[in-house]
Amino acid sequence: MIPLRPNIRNMTGYVPGFQPRDEQRWIKLNTNENPYPPSPRVRAAILAELGEDGASLRQYPDPPSTAAREEAARLYGFDPSWVILANGSDELLNNLIRAFAEAGEEIAYVQPSYSYYATLAEIQGARVRTFGLGEGWDLLDFPPRYEGKLFFLTNPNAPLGFSYPPAFIEELAGRVSGMLVVDEAYADFADGNALALVKKHENVVVTRTLSKSYALAGMRLGLAVARPEVIEALDKIRDHYNLDRLAQAAALAALRDQNYFRRAVEKIRTTRDWFSTELRVIGYSVIPSSGNYLFATPPDRNGRRVYDALFARHILVRHFSDPSLSHGLRISIGTREEMEATLAALKEIG
Ligand SMILES: *Cc1c(COP(=O)(O)O)cnc(C)c1O
Repeated sequence: MIPLRPNIRNMTGYVPGFQPRDEQRWIKLNTNENPYPPSPRVRAAILAELGEDGASLRQYPDPPSTAAREEAARLYGFDPSWVILANGSDELLNNLIRAFAEAGEEIAYVQPSYSYYATLAEIQGARVRTFGLGEGWDLLDFPPRYEGKLFFLTNPNAPLGFSYPPAFIEELAGRVSGMLVVDEAYADFADGNALALVKKHENVVVTRTLSKSYALAGMRLGLAVARPEVIEALDKIRDHYNLDRLAQAAALAALRDQNYFRRAVEKIRTTRDWFSTELRVIGYSVIPSSGNYLFATPPDRNGRRVYDALFARHILVRHFSDPSLSHGLRISIGTREEMEATLAALKEIG
């Protein structure tokens, strides 16, 4: 037998949402991708970086992604020493665990939220604890003082879509003795965010992604905002060339085109609110969503049945077999046309 570390041998590995090969034949509402293309300036910037003959690719990229880092810092109102860019925010989640949790030490997150935290902790050999959600989205059995090394709060919650009030997150920051990582993958679709808490509490880290709100999932771009001591640690751990030249050009162009960004986000929010209302009309219960997806439960509470019937019609949504989620579906918000087709299919399925 090859001498793998036991935790690697025993782990199952994360299973991402299904990406069909014949993509054009599906309405794809299962991985919270943006239905609109990124800003046209992103394509132009990538082509400009590439140049006529691609010769720029001979040379390594700028190791710290300086230009994109400065642009993000300016956008969020921080000094660049408080910001780091990454190859997807998944890279940052991974490196936060590597920076703060020794093998055998504990990290925690909310169940249900993003189970990839658990996979990353397993790789590190850290222990994982989860806290369930009460009726009012309070954290069940959360101790007055949480002594683990990291607590991941997905806000807005995925897959349920609700968001925690700022006062709740601030209280949590005071109760977590390690780091509170607010995973704001969907914050651009919400009304608020925790960036102000990064300045106020030294143990708060905010992570963002350009995958969803900036329509750049295929480019792999994420960022984190935290105190310089935290950013310095994350800079030591990362791949020194974590963002390639095209990704750096794309990030800079996308962050600079705030007009385009705001219009796309607004369209998705409008479609989301319209689709929620229509689902309720046909008897679904829908959790009010602050993301670009929503969690909806059919009248018979049989999420699997509706998932299969949509699948047969080439509409792909997300069903989770976990008992706390199997009654419903997570549906990403596509274009208005895609959501009208999905609604018509749901009416037919009954
Ligand atoms: C999509 C998602 C991520 C990962 O973002 P990438 O930047 O694509 O790696 C992280 N957290 C949550 C909750 C997500 O939904």
